[in-house]
This record gives sequence, structure tokens and C-alpha cells, in this order.
Amino acid sequence: MAATLTAIESRLCAAIAARRAALESDLAAHVAIPTGKGYVPGLEAYRGLVVARLAALGATVREEPGDPRPAWLRLPGEASAADGAEIVPPVVIASRRLDGVTPHIMIAGHLDTVHDPAGPFQKLRPGDEPGTVVGPGAVDMKGGILVVLAALEALAEVGASVSWTVLLNSDEETGSFHSARHLRETAQRHDVGIAVEPALPGGGLAIERMGSGQFMIEVFGRAAHAGREFTKGVSAVTALGGILVQLGALARPDEGMIVNVGPLVGGSVTNAVPDHAACWGNVRYADPERGMRLGAAIDALASTGDGLPRVVVHRRWNRPAKPRTPAVTSFAEGVRAAAADLGMAMPFVATGGVCDGNIMQEVGLPTLDTLGVRGGNLHRTDEFVELASLVDRAQLLAISLIRLADGRIRPVIADGGSAGPPNDR
Ligand SMILES: [Zn+2]
Repeated sequence: MAATLTAIESRLCAAIAARRAALESDLAAHVAIPTGKGYVPGLEAYRGLVVARLAALGATVREEPGDPRPAWLRLPGEASAADGAEIVPPVVIASRRLDGVTPHIMIAGHLDTVHDPAGPFQKLRPGDEPGTVVGPGAVDMKGGILVVLAALEALAEVGASVSWTVLLNSDEETGSFHSARHLRETAQRHDVGIAVEPALPGGGLAIERMGSGQFMIEVFGRAAHAGREFTKGVSAVTALGGILVQLGALARPDEGMIVNVGPLVGGSVTNAVPDHAACWGNVRYADPERGMRLGAAIDALASTGDGLPRVVVHRRWNRPAKPRTPAVTSFAEGVRAAAADLGMAMPFVATGGVCDGNIMQEVGLPTLDTLGVRGGNLHRTDEFVELASLVDRAQLLAISLIRLADGRIRPVIADGGSAGPPNDR
């Protein structure tokens, strides 16, 4: 190990290296528990397993009920809370705050994956590249959660004093609508934030992220028989068609504004003027100002008054843009120095992807969100993890935590973070 590590850091690294076999067998066990698509038995089993490990470290564990999602987010054919088919998962908040030990560090992880619990992709298997394994959620983020457990357990083993809270949600992959309030409230009570999303290729750290939002535009017209009374009808589908053209013109990907539309619904038979049509869509924006501009432009598509066609706009910009702030930069430089002491590269990267780090930083918590394992092909059935990264990323996290606690990594806490665009309409 490099000479730039202190004695306690070297002991931490050794304690984690000694867990390599256990980390690999845990990964196989955790990946074999299906937690995709809101699968409740799998989420409960996995949640229980992780909570038991955190409780064994002396954490106080609370399970908070999640919030329902807005009904308009329901896509055609999707379950909703209103019909009793949507089950709202709880949010786990496991805290070990030590008297007088600051900063208070929030670590966020998600238990859910995107993978079908009934599909053929269920177990960990060797990957095509040497030293890799493939499995559902292996890199996003069951490997990342193992990194957290290994780091916290090693810190306890060497007797290091760190105040931490681990927040675990079960809906990150579907937008964190159930857990956003708990993410925000917990972030407000902490000084610095970490999320263990997968590292970018080559160990890269996502230092700025675009924001993301969801919208639904609903159009109401007047039904009429297509043959007998066509002119008495007001077609919601035709009106929606005009709106789709306007939405398409809003996208300026080269200027940091993305507008993607789909799915669509409209009409139910061919011989009647349709009185209802709707579209759903997603926006991405490079900063809060562009988020506000897109929001205002989409809001302006709504009709005023009661005339037909009537156009109603629903939207929620649920993942605010996460710009690079001075606090994030100093935090990231501290972690990069720790990575260098471990012989690891850590380039800084900007990405259009979003995660819970966007929500945490919105309320002013300087957050680094790609401190999980290395791997790739996220959200695909060839999702892989580099096995060595279970150990070296746990070492990096443990050393980062201890350097936060002793002040060698010091995010500029005075930085107020970034205000997001108005969240709701
Ligand atoms: Zn993830």
C-alpha cells in the first residue's frame, strides 16, 4: 500500500482486502434476490438483509412510509395506488451519529433494479472479460451497497469514529417519487452526501448532472359520429398532434435541453371524433435556468378558459440539475486525492444521467454520487461488475469517510448548493 496512507488507513485497507471472498459470495447472494419492478417479496428480503448488517453496527434504524406517486404519472397499462395495485415501498433510514463527531455524512443507496423478477436474467455468472461477473443489479447497485457495508464494517473494526446515515429507497429506478421527500428531509439534516451509483468507465466521477422531469399533457375535445356529425366534433387527437410538433421544436440538445415524447394515447374507434388524447414525456436540462425555461414553455401549452379543445398540463421536474459547485469540487478533489493514494485514477465527467444525488444536492448538500463499484452495461441483461472494484472502491469509500471525519476532505459547507426550478404544477 502507498506510503501516503496513514497507519489507520492502511489497517482499513487490510481489513477490507481480507473480506474479498465474503464480498464476492455476498454479491452472488444479493444479486440472486430479485428486486426489480417493485417486486415486494424480493425487496423485503433484500431490505431485511442490509438492515440487519447496519443494525449490527449500532445504527438506529427507522422504516418510513413512502409517498404515493401523482396519478397522472401512470402510463397506459401501469398499476397505480388508486386501484390498489401500486404498493408504496418504505424508506429505510439507518443512522449512527456519534456525539461531537462531524460532519454528518449521508449515504444513499437504492435496493431496486430495473430487471424483471420473472425474467431469465436472475443469477450472477462469469462475464466475458476476465475478472468480471454479470448479473441483474450487480453494478447498479448491489455491488455499491456491498461497498458501503464493507467500508462501514471495516471502520467499526479499526475503531474509527464517523457519524453516518444510510438511506435506502426502493424506487430510484422509477424516479424516486415515493422517496423524494425523505431524501430531501434527510439531506437537510446532514453536512455532506454520498451515493453509491456505479463509477463511470475508467473509475470516472460524475461531477455534474443534468436535471430531469416528467410531464403529461391531456387534451379534451368533443365526441361526434365521424360520418353524420363530423363538424360538431372537436378532435383531441388532432389538437394533440399540433402540441407534439411544438414539443418537438422545444428540444435543443446542443444547448442542454432535451424533450422526449412518448407514449401517446388518443381515441378508441375509427368512426368517432376522439374526445380525449394524452401524451407523456421526459425533459432533461443542463441547469436550473434551462429547467425553468422548458417548464414555462410546456406550461404555456395549456389552454385558458373552458373552450374546446381543452389542454391540461401536468409536470414534475423530479430530479433537479446538479451543477458543479465549489463545495462539490473541493469534495471531489479530496476523494480524488484519496483515490490517487490507492493508485486509482478518477477523472471528472459530466453526464445527462440522473440519480438521487440530484435530489440531495438540490437542498444544499454537497454530494458525490458515483462512489459505487466499476462496471458497465447498466439496465441491460449483460450488466457487469469488475470484481476487484468491490475491494478497492470499499477502500476508497472508507478512506474518504475517515478523511471527512478528520477534516482532510472538507467540502465547503458554506456553499448553499443550487436552487432547482419550481418543482410542481
Ligand atoms: Zn442506480
